[in-house]
Amino acid sequence: MLLDSTQNSDVQTLSCHGSQRIHATLFSILKMLFHSHTRREEAPLKTLDDDVEGQVLLTGCALPSAPCVFCGASKENGFDVIWENDRYIVFTDINPAAQHHLQVIPKRHIESVKSLRRADAIMVREMMEIGHKVLDDMYVSPNLRRLGFHIPPYISVSHLHLHVQALPYRSFLRRLKYPVVNGRKGQEKGFSWFVDAEQAARILANDNRVRIMPC
Ligand SMILES: [Zn+2]
Ligand SMILES: [Zn+2]
Repeated sequence: MLLDSTQNSDVQTLSCHGSQRIHATLFSILKMLFHSHTRREEAPLKTLDDDVEGQVLLTGCALPSAPCVFCGASKENGFDVIWENDRYIVFTDINPAAQHHLQVIPKRHIESVKSLRRADAIMVREMMEIGHKVLDDMYVSPNLRRLGFHIPPYISVSHLHLHVQALPYRSFLRRLKYPVVNGRKGQEKGFSWFVDAEQAARILANDNRVRIMPC
């Protein structure tokens, strides 16, 4: 059957945007895995297995217009706050993906790791330092630590949050959410929706931007 001209141009548009389509597919898969720390009202999820959790999360995505959950991070609002100063706050993830799973966030609203520029490398280092200090207090061995950021659109909450984890992960599916991919040919990072905090600090210090594609 012949395509009419409208359909033809649609086909061309689609193939022009092949990489966007791949992104969209990847996004819908990963959406199933993302994230639990937005859904504080669903604490009992902790006891469910990954399959059930994936289904619940699929139907429970936070709307972009919803007020920022992390701007309201406090003990009073039900966060398990374990450390804070005037600029940063640390709390445990409501649905830990690893043996220990914390979030370090700036109190000031910053959208994501993608919003960061060269001068913010200092802030990333400060957040890492705080994360390591908390893990030190938990006697977590340095080779079992993972610290990093998700990269939009693969984020659950649009407020910069550093995942601070003590491995191992609780399941293979959980591990999939936090891949650290080394860069090649002088790049810090390879293709990945997650960036190690150290990689992020170096990318920014080199006056580059953190993205999903190699950078
Ligand atoms: Zn916020
Ligand atoms: Zn995240």
